Amino acid sequence: MTRPPLVNPSAPGFGGAMEMLSQLKKLKSETVSSAAGDQPLYVARQKIQPKSVSGRFRQLKWMVMLVTLGIYYLTPWLRWDRGPFAPDQAVLLDLSGGRFYFFFIEIWPQELFYVAGLLIMAGIGLFLVTSTVGRAWCGYACPQTVWVDLFLAVERFIEGDRNARIKLDQAPLDLRKATLRTAKHAVWLLIAVATGGAWIFYFADAPTLARAFITGEAPPVAYITVAVLTATTYTFGGLMREQVCIYMCPWPRIQAAMLDESSLTVTYNDWRGEPRSRHTKRAMAAGESIGDCVDCSACVAVCPMGIDIRNGQQMACITCALCIDACDGVMDKLGKERGLISYATFRDYDANMAIATSGGTAAIDPARVRGGDGKLIPEVAQFRLGTLLRPRTLVYVAMWSLIGLIMLYALMTRARLDVSVLSDRNPQYVILSDGAVRNGYTVKLLNMIPERRTLTLSLDGLPGATMMVGGMNQPESRTAEIEVEPDRLKAVRVFVRQPAEMIHAEKQTFKFVVEDHAGEGAAYTATFSAPGGRK
Ligand code: SF4
Ligand code: SF4
Repeated sequence: MTRPPLVNPSAPGFGGAMEMLSQLKKLKSETVSSAAGDQPLYVARQKIQPKSVSGRFRQLKWMVMLVTLGIYYLTPWLRWDRGPFAPDQAVLLDLSGGRFYFFFIEIWPQELFYVAGLLIMAGIGLFLVTSTVGRAWCGYACPQTVWVDLFLAVERFIEGDRNARIKLDQAPLDLRKATLRTAKHAVWLLIAVATGGAWIFYFADAPTLARAFITGEAPPVAYITVAVLTATTYTFGGLMREQVCIYMCPWPRIQAAMLDESSLTVTYNDWRGEPRSRHTKRAMAAGESIGDCVDCSACVAVCPMGIDIRNGQQMACITCALCIDACDGVMDKLGKERGLISYATFRDYDANMAIATSGGTAAIDPARVRGGDGKLIPEVAQFRLGTLLRPRTLVYVAMWSLIGLIMLYALMTRARLDVSVLSDRNPQYVILSDGAVRNGYTVKLLNMIPERRTLTLSLDGLPGATMMVGGMNQPESRTAEIEVEPDRLKAVRVFVRQPAEMIHAEKQTFKFVVEDHAGEGAAYTATFSAPGGRK
């Protein structure tokens, strides 16, 4: 039986491809993290010098980096007009005032369940992303990944690409090396300081704090926070890099439980790549069946984790997809289909492997996945968008949307006025000279809008009772007018008095009702105590 050729000599560009192939040199690269064999719990760090690469996933990573860093550094400087009684910083965690401002939303401490809801949504979102596209969070948006990428870009700009950096590492210390190293670490430190500096601006008015910080008048906690964040950013982003993902982060361990056979992961398709050979021409001339991998190690050289993805799925792989870009570049030069390394599901991989190995009965023969024209046969499973829509991901989407809608509804309809009451415990009541009974309360009025409000406090129930508000010159009656500052809680002492003839029980419930002139109101049920046995 004659096997179809692995590469179709009549395919356009084939001659050029063969020429390219002979030009492709194996990149000198060593795997640092490996899935093969038993590994100790910790291995001393071997420096990884990832090579620069271009391609669609690299472009996507640049864009994500730009957006995420832009959001982080610029957000504290955005202004949002909330009137004269509230800060005008768009995003502010005001710890001293007990408020969280997010554009038009203001969260009070008693509304922290909104933050809890957001965290739950973030958790479900992470489940959704992981079950569909694997560790996309790690590869694209995790702060560790983003800052390491930024530090690497600086390193590459100052010291050159991989080969130049390796050479520099091995060179003796001279003026050039010292200058380059000093420049690199100085820029890294600047980035680290900017990172720590941006963080503190989320907790106070950014322009004011920046001035105070520069003139040495900022609170000590600001300097300590910047110092700690500078040190951690510099160490994690510049010095430890992949070690943080491998040894410090729990997420790689957790995410393994979230993947299923339909999750996309970065995969080396050995069903078309093996047996690999650097001597394609010779192998083809000898009639050997060889795979698409030309063993150039471009995928290893660009990997920021020092992984050879051809060894299979590995916990250290952050699925940044840079090896896909590198290999796609090689395949382009060879005139072969892209996707020798690709995002693939375990299910598709298994199906293709079954074709290449005749259902697991023989060694991989990539000729089995190609037709007479040298192209991949139609039976080869490819990624379909529909794979992402399966019961599990739909449940995640439904849960995420439901929580989001509930929170949105609660946010839109939440009260901006509240009242809470504390009854005096000692004494619970006082018997006045005319036999009437008086109870004392601390009434807390919460005005949650940035405008001054005059509130009407009144009694609902408790027949015949009147009240007197401490510190206010108002006659005893069933209502009282109380002014509350914008965005403030006001606590007032209230004494409620009920004539003796109206008291029919030891405990009576009634309501404190509060209302503003626009009709917004709130109520609190309180208890009025009287001596036992009074009828
Ligand atoms: S193996 Fe590929 S996807 Fe995984 S970390 Fe390395 S370059 Fe990124
Ligand atoms: S998988 Fe692609 S990039 Fe990696 S060695 Fe093979 S051909 Fe080169």
